[in-house]
Amino acid sequence: TAKDADTQGATAAQRWLEQDRRYVWHHMQPYAASRDPMIVVHGEGATITDIHGNRYIDAMSGLWCVNLGYSERELAEAAYRQLAEMPYYPLTQSHLPAIRLAEKLNAWLGGEYKIFFSNSGSEANETAFKLARQYHAQRGEPGRWKVISRYRAYHGNSGAALAATGQAQRKYKYEPLAPGFVHVPPPYCYRCPFGQAYGSCHLECASVYEQVMEWEGPETIAAVIMEPVITGGGVIVPPPEYMRQVREICDRYGVLLIVDEVICGFGRSGERFGHHNFGVEPDIVTMAKGITSGYLPLSATAVRASLFEAFKDDAPYAHFRHVNTFGGNPAACALAVRTLEIMEERRLVERARELGRALSAALVPLAAHPNVGDVRSFGFLAGIELVADKETRSPAPAAFVNQVLAGCKRRGVIIGKNGDTVPNHNNVLTISPPFVVSREELDQIVQAVTEAVHEAAEGAGPSGAS
Ligand code: PMP
Repeated sequence: TAKDADTQGATAAQRWLEQDRRYVWHHMQPYAASRDPMIVVHGEGATITDIHGNRYIDAMSGLWCVNLGYSERELAEAAYRQLAEMPYYPLTQSHLPAIRLAEKLNAWLGGEYKIFFSNSGSEANETAFKLARQYHAQRGEPGRWKVISRYRAYHGNSGAALAATGQAQRKYKYEPLAPGFVHVPPPYCYRCPFGQAYGSCHLECASVYEQVMEWEGPETIAAVIMEPVITGGGVIVPPPEYMRQVREICDRYGVLLIVDEVICGFGRSGERFGHHNFGVEPDIVTMAKGITSGYLPLSATAVRASLFEAFKDDAPYAHFRHVNTFGGNPAACALAVRTLEIMEERRLVERARELGRALSAALVPLAAHPNVGDVRSFGFLAGIELVADKETRSPAPAAFVNQVLAGCKRRGVIIGKNGDTVPNHNNVLTISPPFVVSREELDQIVQAVTEAVHEAAEGAGPSGAS
């Protein structure tokens, strides 16, 4: 077709690149990297194809979201049918796709929840913070307004969500952000902030919440927000009893527990939701990304039905005065319903769990490499922490990490890097492939990462790299 012809050929590619450089502002990228983007024109299963015809296995599912892969036509059709039938109506009233999806989310969560729809993970968290504060205010405790989150966690790009985020590199030059966000150290066993070792510790990473609540004044704390596993902060997997212990502290202090399932939700953890792995019941669950497999923007804030009781009041300002024009867009909701149905029909949560076990087993040999400090996994999610020195655990320099990423790309595999060891420096490789990835493709991912780590170490290497 003419459209295809337009994306083919070196001259056309060069023209697109020039226009991109001129007009498109890339997310997160430093200037030099932003000058050389991969212009993606096609997707098929777990793979993407760039404008030059190069094909890559996308071992990051875009930004941890394209769980069903890049070519699920049924999702496109579900959205198209809804767009043709009834493209838009605000959720100040209601529509069928929102009702269907809210019911389905309840089944997936395994509890009774009221669902507030937005468009992004950041908005879902902003919604949760407002809800938590108002909940307490409505019950006669308007002084409860602070939210406790963890260093290293990411919760979004907007005022309060970024304030909740515990990564300095994302905040420099944008502060001051929203007040009222207090951080505690993460349950990071590889670099225990309390100088302890799991097995002989007293789970100081959990009991610190109690101490911080006391120091802040328990009557000022509205909520705790946490991901089941810190994902973007470097795949930091907590001890198995951590989340239950934090839940217990929240209960004792009358504090709500908000669980951010933006990445961990919808099968990534090997269960339907990440918190299902830990036997914990949240008060509020926020979700996005995998809810539509990334195909359309949609997010949700699920609030335990018992909390909604506090909002059943027609006194002035007693209702939740929060609106979102695009939140719960009908086509996005219809697409999300189909996403969850497909996951059920094809048993993709179970598949993610099995692939996760295979990935974790396949990465074992890499853990012996002198520049691999720690390999962590959770469901179908893995983090490989690169170090310059295994004894001192000093982080591998940025150049080394970038060399590994480039080595993977040369081998046809896109992986990610995350962490925030020091500002602007991520030393944890991340792998979070689509659930439709084949076993052969998974082998290719592991082989590419393994070869790329060896290659980087043998080449300039961490000591030689700056
Ligand atoms: N929470 C978590 C755990 C996330 O990983 C992200 C996005 N990476 C967000 C919230 C924010 O989501 P969004 O980018 O859709 O606003």
